[in-house]
Parts: sequence; structure tokens; C-alpha cells
Amino acid sequence: MRIGVDLGGTKIEGIILDDEGSIREKIRIKTPYDQYDATLEATCEIVNKLQAKATPKFTVGIGTPGALSLPSKLMKNSNSVCLNGKPFKQDIELRLGYEVRVENDANCFALSEALYGAGIDCFSVFGVILGTGTGGGIVVNKQLVTGPNNITGEWGHNSIPVSVQKLIANDRTCYCGRQNCIETVLSGRGLKQTYFEQVGQQLEPIEISQRAEQGHSNAMECIQRYCQQLARCLASVINIVDPELIVLGGGLSNIRELYNAVPDFLEEFVFTDVVQTKLSRPKFGDASGAIGAACLWTP
Ligand SMILES: [Zn+2]
Repeated sequence: MRIGVDLGGTKIEGIILDDEGSIREKIRIKTPYDQYDATLEATCEIVNKLQAKATPKFTVGIGTPGALSLPSKLMKNSNSVCLNGKPFKQDIELRLGYEVRVENDANCFALSEALYGAGIDCFSVFGVILGTGTGGGIVVNKQLVTGPNNITGEWGHNSIPVSVQKLIANDRTCYCGRQNCIETVLSGRGLKQTYFEQVGQQLEPIEISQRAEQGHSNAMECIQRYCQQLARCLASVINIVDPELIVLGGGLSNIRELYNAVPDFLEEFVFTDVVQTKLSRPKFGDASGAIGAACLWTP
């Protein structure tokens, strides 16, 4: 049996996954706010509880924001900043007494959808997280693509294309210190900022999306603009990776209009005649991170 844990900014979710990819047990607790030791303890507590319910032979995978730096074995790039600079994998293994696998949460999302979800019949999948942050992961032939920097798919911190620059009013500073990262436009905060630039009012992404569905013209225009921004940013990924499927996850993937408008907008910006790449909703909701973490081990 495989135990998977998704260490999120607000919650830690743990599951037991059987060999067919079905969830057998699920536990969820709140993430201790910005406290490294308490986060380690909470993660191990979930694993221990699941371990008690698992078969004697089990594996543990953990999905986290950010990534392990391969040379230093320390965490980097995490927006849960208490993890950065910490030997998270070693500290967990020290507490549990056995090997665990640790992977970026967007990679876990992509893996879960490629193996058991929307991409089950696809050779290549780009999994995109559109939520608090903007991340991504690439799965080819059911294997996560990884590299020496451990950052495959991290398109959220590429600069926006010039074609998107035209769709924002002012430069945006990213938490990573750079200007106009894709995340500053496509994250929840990015959508909020776009609405503010257009309408002069602060609304949460969910409110913008609801108003658009109710036919409010300002919100509809803002969502159309977001679809344009997303399509233009995705086009550069398609030109490099040429994935069979792009599957969207994270809170903003619930915006229904994305699946209508973005495929049409892609046509203008992808370097091809007719774009064959499919765009899909995720099959799994909140559980995708934990499922993907469990899948870091083969059954
Ligand atoms: Zn950035």
C-alpha cells in the first residue's frame, strides 16, 4: 500500500492509495502556521496514523510547495517559506526511521492526473496549478520529467510574454523578487489585480467568476482577459513540450469559461496549423496532491 501526503499552505492531507489507484483512508489536519518543527510533527503524525491502518508493507510519498535542491538537499522555492533552507526530507526520515520520497506539489498533481485522472489515456501531460501560486509539472509516458535543478514545469516564474504585457496595466512584482512573472498574472492574486486594473474594485477570484457567470459585463470582460492571458502563456509551453493534454488544477481551474475560451485563443499563438492539444478539468479535486504523492512509488 502507498501512503501519500500533501503538505499544503493551509492543510495537510494524507491518504492510503491501493494498487488500483483508489483511496482507502483519508485524514486532513490544519497546517501549523509558518512553524517548521510543528509542520514536521504534523506530517509525521498523519503518516503514523495512516501507517497503523496500512498493510505491513507500505511506502510514503510527500508533496510539498517548492522543491528539494539536489546539491544541498535543502528546500527551495517554497511559498510556505518556513520550509526554505531546511533539510525537510532528511528530517522526516529521521523522525519516521525509513526512506520517504518528496516531490513538488504541482508535479504530484500532474502525476495523479496522468496515471489515474484526465490524462489516463495520454502519452504526455502538462499539469498546471492555478491557485495561490502558478506551478506545473510534466509527465511523459507515465513518468515525471525531472532535471538537475529539480524545477521541471515551473513556468509560473518565467516572465510573461510580450503579448501578455499588453494585457496588464502596470508592472507586477513577484514574491520571488522578479518582475512580471507569469504567476503575478495567472494566480488568484493576479486575477484580482487584473480586475482591479480594469474596474477599480477589489474582488476575490471566486466573486469575479460568479459575477461573470451571472452576466456582469465587467467580470465577463475580466474573465475573457484572463483566458487570453492563460492561452498566451500556455502557447509558449506547447511550443516547447507539445503535450497531448494540459490539465488544470487549483482553485481557478473551477472557472468554467477557461475550457470554452482558452482552446480558441491558443490558435493564434501556438506555432502550428490546428492546435491538437486538449485542455481538461482535473478528475480529482483536493485529493490530487496526496494521490500524486502516493504515486511517487510504484505499487
Ligand atoms: Zn516569480
